[in-house]
Amino acid sequence: MNCDYLLIHYGELSTKGNNRREFISILTRNVKRALSGLSVEVNGRRDHIYVKLNGQKEGEEAVKRLLCVPGIIKISPGYECGKDVEELAEFGAKLILDSGKKTFKVEASRADKGYPLDSYGVCRLIADRALKEGKGLSVDLHHPELTLRVQVREGCCYLSTGSIKGLGGYPLGSIGKATMLLSGGIDSPVAAYSLLRRGIKIECVHFASPPYTSEAVIDKLKDILYLLTPYQSDIRLDVVPFTKIQEAIYEHVPEPYCITIMRRMMVRIAAKLAASRGSLAIASGESIGQVASQTLESMQVINEVTSFPFLRPLCVSDKVDVIDKAKEIGTFDISIRPFEDCCTIFKPRHPKTKPDLAHCLRYEALFDYEKMIEEAINGISPIFVSR
Ligand code: ATP
Ligand code: MG
Repeated sequence: MNCDYLLIHYGELSTKGNNRREFISILTRNVKRALSGLSVEVNGRRDHIYVKLNGQKEGEEAVKRLLCVPGIIKISPGYECGKDVEELAEFGAKLILDSGKKTFKVEASRADKGYPLDSYGVCRLIADRALKEGKGLSVDLHHPELTLRVQVREGCCYLSTGSIKGLGGYPLGSIGKATMLLSGGIDSPVAAYSLLRRGIKIECVHFASPPYTSEAVIDKLKDILYLLTPYQSDIRLDVVPFTKIQEAIYEHVPEPYCITIMRRMMVRIAAKLAASRGSLAIASGESIGQVASQTLESMQVINEVTSFPFLRPLCVSDKVDVIDKAKEIGTFDISIRPFEDCCTIFKPRHPKTKPDLAHCLRYEALFDYEKMIEEAINGISPIFVSR
């Protein structure tokens, strides 16, 4: 991409009133971090962030990285050109011709009111030159294939021919952090991605039940999280030793209730981690109706153990759409590597689809789970996955 600068537009941020300035400063910081190592200059301004580029290669790499930064609605690559009328005509016409498009229009604005041409004059100047030099070109004011925008400023002219859609959402870090329950399956990585693209930071927790589950799942999770590091450069993963709790559940709880109680234990642990690490929510890859533990009745009984908001970004998604998204973000091929999850290993033949809270409380009173939860939390070995 042979351009001189990139303009980053904020989108939804503009609706945020008083928080706007803080959001822009967080986004500017995130943009600087995303572009670190490239020789660019980044300046946060009132309605856009201006990135000055130093070469063609940098432009392509910068755009690629910025497409993973939440809070950006669009990126407009642009060009700088001197204010000499002849130079502007030549440069503007060349951009139109090089685009290969057949219909175009020019839009101009002037901050420099002393410029010899008014806005209409600038449009005519460039359009006439392009029409003279280009074969088969025509102006279409209503549905042009290309719109060339020109701003005549004090120092120079800025030109741009279009924009690239960004992720949208909010700047990462501006709307808090969630504790994400991450399995090795297809859904939870997509759920984690959905949080990130909205701008919610994540810390992940995984429940491992060795020797029933294998060490290989940890590598799998690291590979999955690495694919998410363009969105959040450092991701913490707490691996919780869950075997004892799981064995206790299967010793004391009637089989149909095992999954429900197991989920309640997972959420209890996640809530303690969330509280101690400053998360504002717990999140999972659950989707309503997908399996027995994901009915609304089950979710209600599972939620009962925590007052944290429980985010389920995929709750109304169809599996086929989740699979498509997993393929798009690259996690699918990792997720389908064979693995045993503690949920699948201990899967009851007839799980309760409408569990009763009173029953859960009665079964949970049969073993000292609080102590086991403490032990499990003390046994956590955190892993950090970074770009
Ligand atoms: P996934 O594809 O994410 O594994 P799933 O459709 O297989 O989801 P379940 O196995 O019932 O569904 O899990 C539902 C959710 O519970 C997961 O999306 C994940 O958020 C959480 N979960 C399941 N197993 C674990 C685990 N071992 N560690 C952490 N979270 C888990
Ligand atoms: Mg699973």
